[in-house]
Amino acid sequence: MATTGAKTYRNYIGGEWVEAASGESFETRNPATGETLGVFPLSSTEDMDRAVEAAKAAFEEWRLVPAPKRGELLFRVAQMFAERKDELTEQMVREMGKVRAEAAGDVQEAIDMTFYMAAEGRRMFGHTTPSELPDKFMMSTRNPVGVVGAITPWNFPIAIPSWKIAPALVCGNTVVFKPAEDTPLLAGLFVEIFEEAGLPPGVLNIVHGAGETVGEHLVKHPDVPLISFTGSREVGAQVQTNAGPYLKNVHLELGGKNAIIVMDDADVDLAVDGILWSAFGTSGQRCTAASRVIANRTVYDALCSRLVERAEGMRLGDGLDDATDVGPVINQAALEKIHSYTGIGKDEGAKLLTGGEVATENGLDRGFFYRPTVFADVEPGMRIAQEEIFGPTTALIRASGVDEAIRIANGVKYGLSSSIFTRDVNKAFKAMRDLKTGITYINAGTTGAEVHLPFGGTKDTGNGHREAGQAALDFYTEWKSIYVDYSGKLQRAQIDNVEQPAP
Ligand code: NAD
Repeated sequence: MATTGAKTYRNYIGGEWVEAASGESFETRNPATGETLGVFPLSSTEDMDRAVEAAKAAFEEWRLVPAPKRGELLFRVAQMFAERKDELTEQMVREMGKVRAEAAGDVQEAIDMTFYMAAEGRRMFGHTTPSELPDKFMMSTRNPVGVVGAITPWNFPIAIPSWKIAPALVCGNTVVFKPAEDTPLLAGLFVEIFEEAGLPPGVLNIVHGAGETVGEHLVKHPDVPLISFTGSREVGAQVQTNAGPYLKNVHLELGGKNAIIVMDDADVDLAVDGILWSAFGTSGQRCTAASRVIANRTVYDALCSRLVERAEGMRLGDGLDDATDVGPVINQAALEKIHSYTGIGKDEGAKLLTGGEVATENGLDRGFFYRPTVFADVEPGMRIAQEEIFGPTTALIRASGVDEAIRIANGVKYGLSSSIFTRDVNKAFKAMRDLKTGITYINAGTTGAEVHLPFGGTKDTGNGHREAGQAALDFYTEWKSIYVDYSGKLQRAQIDNVEQPAP
């Protein structure tokens, strides 16, 4: 794990690539091999102050750039993401660990989102509505808010920044971006593309470093009225608390404990495909990962045996090898947390069907690999059925009928994604109505969102806002209602147009 020769990277503040004021640094590593990929500034609150100052100054001009022009810039960015897709994909496999096809999907999501939001530059519709008074015109418009603090996790290192930064910019805000410590290289490449596309200095800034220092400082900074945060429930709650005294607008996208329901009438082979993709794709490190499978009693045994057989056939390895099905998890702490849940599951009396161990053969010990893990005989209240594990572990729970299955699916504190496999349209519609999640899939796994529908969850998964689609614009703008009176006289709403009672 020699660091010699690893390239040194910088923050991007006010249009300049600059070192941290402290001169301190941290490294990013390949989770499959341990190779050091780069050295990044371990920034301090001083660096964050500079970035916010630059973003605040840039806002005064950026907000006046016509929205279609802001959109044109995003079209260029989207095009450049597309041109550099292979490079970004390969870097993602190396820095984050997901396999090549999934990394390419992550980049594609950023391309789609940036094109989508670019086009909003020519929409961003407001409303007009008739006045109750004569010779009076009324409309509402979307207005930018100011500096957005964008704080992101490592698991979708290109897609998630695009979910926040593309809508923030097209709406006329400026941004200070604090990426996850595990994927600074990709975050830097992301920002570099905006710079090359011609974004004016200060409109997008990046400050690398620790969440507890620069992240928290961004959240508490009085000149940052909007905070868009994606990460764990625990840190999200801290963000909400820290932003509270400043009355900021805070958008939280947090964890999940997503369930796939398999009904007696389901296509079991299709369900197994959906479960494998949702539970073990990205090594289970997706907020939408299926870490619970709620199976009806008549399909339960068949599902167990097919899942075990398929899970055991999955090849672990470096995502750059096209034969790999499951890449590494992000770091040593994640590996230990995932393994600790195997112990918790066993202690709770669940039956470990397969996996449950760190994989070390054929050089896997250089990285952080965990075998796809399936627990059976899981009771809905067990910790492995309640807590987010964020690894390749799934728990099989028995249910009788759609009502019980939905009740179990809803019986967790999170509410991000859910899915049901059934051929019965009545059960499907019941699930669409009653599953208390922000996203529900019918006859597909729990992952696979597209950028033009809202993305987010209910309950502890968030605080009611949504990313993506038109819904994203609601967070990055504030409504302004405008009344134009061209009657030439004072007209008082609710008074002058109401018949007064006779004296
Ligand atoms: P995390 O909460 O540890 O970190 C997220 C970000 O917050 C990082 O950039 C980190 O540096 C920063 N941070 C840490 N402490 C902070 C503080 N006190 N103040 C401000 N910022 C701080 O999460 P993670 O491990 O990077 O990501 C995994 C989590 O993210 C999982 O819970 C997953 O479900 C969730 N996630 C949710 C979604 C969604 O859209 N709902 C998407 C992806 C990931």
